[in-house]
Amino acid sequence: MAFTRATGKHRRPSRMHRTTARAVGAAALTTTGVLGTLAAAPALAAEAPAPEETGLTPVITIGDSVAQKIDAQAAAQRQAAEQKKAEEAARQKAAELAKKEREAKERAAREAERKRLNAFVPPISGSYVSTGYRTGGSLWSSGSHTGIDFHAASGTAVHAVGVGTVVQTGWGGAYGNQIVIRMADGMYTQYGHLSSIGVSVGQKVVPGQQIGLSGATGNVTGPHLHFEARTSPDYGSDIDPVAYLRKHGVNV
Ligand SMILES: [Zn+2]
Repeated sequence: MAFTRATGKHRRPSRMHRTTARAVGAAALTTTGVLGTLAAAPALAAEAPAPEETGLTPVITIGDSVAQKIDAQAAAQRQAAEQKKAEEAARQKAAELAKKEREAKERAAREAERKRLNAFVPPISGSYVSTGYRTGGSLWSSGSHTGIDFHAASGTAVHAVGVGTVVQTGWGGAYGNQIVIRMADGMYTQYGHLSSIGVSVGQKVVPGQQIGLSGATGNVTGPHLHFEARTSPDYGSDIDPVAYLRKHGVNV
């Protein structure tokens, strides 16, 4: 009777528990089924199978391997994303640098162009002033020279001294064939005795641009370029052309 009861109390435990309980319980049967159960508990703990004996280990190992693979994959994806981000940042930085470089180049080009346009040149290259400003003499109707003469054989290239707009071309009486240019600074320059005129009214000119050829038209004793600086397009508003050219950096 006692045996039946003891077994009955252990209806639920696992097979292993039951087996252990039965083995231990055999000794405890003389007392009570409860004793047998108490003895069985530590025995169960002690006999808990080691993983390597259950065949679980390989499963766990495979599980770890898969987990590791997933981790590695995630890490690789993270790394790829970070690399992509770094590459994108590098690309942006390179683009910014290129843009800055381009802007600096453009600035330099603009500055060079500005300098080029601000720089004045002599109207005849490699020449010299053969007759100075306000030189007296019977040759000039005003009684004194209203400009300066540059030594130049007929057919020598005549250049605009600076940036400006052509305001007059054609016959100028004693000046022969002439060109008058309104300069960017609001002053005027005049070029006389030309054998040929190469620009027309309204045309924009830049420093060093050829506007015609020197000659001996008008009231002259020989070929040269007569050059004036004026405050207006008209005769009689002349100022010292040497001072004007020097003010703009021309060595005359
Ligand atoms: Zn002259």
